[in-house]
Amino acid sequence: MMIIMKTNATPQQVEDVVEHVKAAGLSVHLSQGVEQTIIGAIGETHSIPVDRFEGLDGVEMVKRITQPFKLCSRQFHPENSIFPLDGFTVGGDEIVVIAGPCSVESRSQIIETAHAVKEAGAHALRGGIFKPRTSPYSFQGLGEEGLEYLVEARQQTGLPIVAEIMSQNQLDLMVKHVDVLQVGARNMQNFNLLRSLGETQAAVLLKRGLSATIEEWLMSAEYILAGGNKQVMLCERGIRTYETTTRNTTDINAIPVLKNLTHLPVILDPSHSTGHADYVSAVARAAIAAGADGLIVEVHPDPAHAVSDGKQSLKPEKFAEMVRQVGQIAQILGRNLASARDHSLFLEKPVVLSEKE
Ligand code: PEP
Ligand code: MN
Repeated sequence: MMIIMKTNATPQQVEDVVEHVKAAGLSVHLSQGVEQTIIGAIGETHSIPVDRFEGLDGVEMVKRITQPFKLCSRQFHPENSIFPLDGFTVGGDEIVVIAGPCSVESRSQIIETAHAVKEAGAHALRGGIFKPRTSPYSFQGLGEEGLEYLVEARQQTGLPIVAEIMSQNQLDLMVKHVDVLQVGARNMQNFNLLRSLGETQAAVLLKRGLSATIEEWLMSAEYILAGGNKQVMLCERGIRTYETTTRNTTDINAIPVLKNLTHLPVILDPSHSTGHADYVSAVARAAIAAGADGLIVEVHPDPAHAVSDGKQSLKPEKFAEMVRQVGQIAQILGRNLASARDHSLFLEKPVVLSEKE
């Protein structure tokens, strides 16, 4: 951390700041220029907020040299984090595609969609069972019943399942039955939930908050890593801007920026980031071209009758075309879509939740 003193700072003010730095357990490197003094604060600065020094008399500004996030930073872990997920890996050379409906609506809907997305080349199945809806009067998800259908879809197709967890009281159920726990945009800063997930070894897909900066998002990932759970992937899902023609604005910049700042895998959700099926494939292609490790895409067999997010859901045929296109883009970059998994592992898994209890 660098503490830059005002040009008119007195020797006493410099001395006081030096004492504060030492009291924080840091060592001091003093650089006295002709006009300005810079105090280097050296040591474990991650846990020390910059405002601890910013308000001191004679201080002009305080700048961090190391990132405020440590465990997810590339500075401390230069290699990509690659984690295995039921036969494929996330974060390495392979590109993963997660697909499925916004919400699990019925047994037949999720089973049909699971087979369709698998046929089209998806590696994992998504489906919301606890839905974070803006209105309390909108469909809130099928809950445990939906989870049973999702588990059956996994058993039939072998696709690992991705579902959103909204609260800590869903943790035991979700950890037991779901392969990847999604933390939605609205919960990115639910720090109690993040801490609880940190205490598990479940794979977590952490979405970016609606208006979160990349640094805030990485600090949220840090909460999970700090608990000992290293299986975190980040998902860019669009941010709020002044633009209204799309639901959100896809922050493509976030992909190379994150790849630079963190070793965690980065995937993109072109469905929520655009809000419109017409734009999903183009943005999915752009994400892979920009270096994303994967995609999560909403697919519905009958989008016009979907209970949530039908407008942004692809029909299976469109999704299959998208998968082919992103596969070609991946190859140009020397990467490949993840290869087909060994599904035999899954056929052992029970269908009904109560059977597994
Ligand atoms: C979803 O994946 O259906 C969802 C609600 O996403 P987000 O949290 O990105 O809005
Ligand atoms: Mn959705």
